[in-house]
Amino acid sequence: MGRSPASDKKVRRTGRLPTPAESRRIGALRPPSGSRGTRADRGVCPTELASLQSVRPAGHLPPIDGQPVRLEIRRGLADRRGEVHAGAFIRERRIAFDAELAADPQEFARIFVHEVFHFVWLRLGNPRRWSYEALLREEMRSRARGELGWSAEWRKRSLAAPDPGRRTRRWREYVCESFCDTAAWMFSGVPAHGEYTLALRFCKRRRQWFEESDVSNRISI
Ligand SMILES: [Zn+2]
Repeated sequence: MGRSPASDKKVRRTGRLPTPAESRRIGALRPPSGSRGTRADRGVCPTELASLQSVRPAGHLPPIDGQPVRLEIRRGLADRRGEVHAGAFIRERRIAFDAELAADPQEFARIFVHEVFHFVWLRLGNPRRWSYEALLREEMRSRARGELGWSAEWRKRSLAAPDPGRRTRRWREYVCESFCDTAAWMFSGVPAHGEYTLALRFCKRRRQWFEESDVSNRISI
């Protein structure tokens, strides 16, 4: 069960996303070398890590800092609103995916990145969170429609005019989901999707924000 730091590093550097079958096998996002592993990351042997290199890349995440996050596949996943594809349990450091996603690697990749970025959002710090929020306020002023995922889009549609100014809970939830959907658009390796409804000029501005804010270079979870 011993882990080889060298092969671990190799997996991290590629930043490749796991397929649904792999995440079942891996059981956790990899922590950085030098960080102390917890129980969740001891279940991977070096041969499994090495074999990950031979699978075709689906997308590329920035290098990740932080303790492991457990990945689980569940049947009939639901939250208080009904059936869901996935859910991030921040305090428990785990992400649960619905078993049906395993049949759709592209959708899995998109949702995987979205859920990982819920952890990133939490560690982003107020200056960058406020900066992203300011970007979205600017979009609202420019009457930008659409989003980069349904999770952000339905929240955007249900916003009332005073929400951004008052920084209501509805607005803050929208900002967070927008951040995660934008990350999925950028890093999942899914270039086109029916849920990408935001006009190109706004997409470009968001990409620029991710780059200027250093989120594209390194993320903490
Ligand atoms: Zn979300």
